[in-house]
Amino acid sequence: METQVRKYASQHDAIADLPLITESARVTRVTKMDQDRRPAVTDAIRRWLADHGLTGRYGPVDGPDDWANLRSRLVADGHPAVARRISTLAERYDRPKPMLARVRLETERDVDFVAGQYVGLRYDGTSRAYSLAGSPTRDDMEICVRRVPGGRLSPRICDDLAVDDEVTVRGPYGDLVLQDTSPRDMVFLATGTGVAPFKSMIDYVFETGRDECDGEKRDVWLFLGAAWADDLPYRNEFRRVARERENFHFVPCLSREPYLSDWDGETDYVQHALLKYVDASAVSTPMGTLLDDRLRGDPETDESAAIDPANVDVYACGINAMVYSLVAAVERLGVPPARIESEGFG
Ligand SMILES: Cc1cc2nc3c(=O)[nH]c(=O)nc-3n(C[C@H](O)[C@H](O)[C@H](O)COP(=O)(O)OP(=O)(O)OC[C@H]3O[C@@H](n4cnc5c(N)ncnc54)[C@H](O)[C@@H]3O)c2cc1C
Repeated sequence: METQVRKYASQHDAIADLPLITESARVTRVTKMDQDRRPAVTDAIRRWLADHGLTGRYGPVDGPDDWANLRSRLVADGHPAVARRISTLAERYDRPKPMLARVRLETERDVDFVAGQYVGLRYDGTSRAYSLAGSPTRDDMEICVRRVPGGRLSPRICDDLAVDDEVTVRGPYGDLVLQDTSPRDMVFLATGTGVAPFKSMIDYVFETGRDECDGEKRDVWLFLGAAWADDLPYRNEFRRVARERENFHFVPCLSREPYLSDWDGETDYVQHALLKYVDASAVSTPMGTLLDDRLRGDPETDESAAIDPANVDVYACGINAMVYSLVAAVERLGVPPARIESEGFG
């Protein structure tokens, strides 16, 4: 298994030293991917209080000023769970917008890269690594960026980058790339923008028929975790592929979404949701009571295909801590380490 977790201390320097692709990639489109859900938050808080018979008891609950006071009073009155949920919803209300943007770039000459690689992007003097999210067959390049509040570059990309701006692009780089076509199924595990390299790979796999080997279809699974539904990059694109391709199984795992909508899909972390889709009879080693229970648990979706750990190539990407947990979980399922590729960032 090859785990590449890049260290922040050296990462930015390394990026600045990558070969130059162009000093002047032109921004052709910037799309904000998350939504303003503040009205939904306000409704959800009112509804949650009503469900607990607490409407009217604490005065108006119309906005953040009311909620701050409300939370401490709920705790004092013995309703800590209600207070916790209101805190989570209030955080969602307060967060900057947008949190997620996709950016298309045009270069003078075509750039050769392999699905899964990343580039170093410099804007206004700051360079950072961003995975290429488009298929290598496309003429333009695409990245998707999540705002790190207080960060130097990602808030600038989310707030200021505009069509016709020029950025410097270096690279391409990275070893988290598609392995040779095999008869095995593919399982992609990601949180948030960790899905960007997999968007490139999945597009490429279907465009080039790599979802088939010796006339047999390979199942392609994507487990993608986020807090809220609109934090899922490329959610509409993945849903479209799932509609069009019988062998593509998209499993969003949304830990907070039921607070805001009638979401009835997976709410577990990716590494736990994955277990429900594994063929339990193919796992020989006990994983511990909690994980064994999950292994025998029923999926929240109507996906019927089951993952055989002996017959998969696994790819994992996201923030470092999550990638470690994912890789550990997948190894415990019995996936041979040589068939697990992973990359962590941040
Ligand atoms: C190989 C690779 C590929 C990457 N691909 C993508 C991508 O496709 N999309 C994307 O949005 N980002 C990606 N990143 C992360 C990206 O390079 C930046 O680190 C990120 O945008 C934050 O930059 P910043 O200048 O805003 O924050 P900084 O000013 O660099 O950081 C501010 C603070 O936030 C912390 N921090 C940095 N990144 C994160 C994070 N992701 N989550 C939580 N805390 C963080 C830092 O440790 C620091 O304390 C990738 C990183 C690597 C190494």
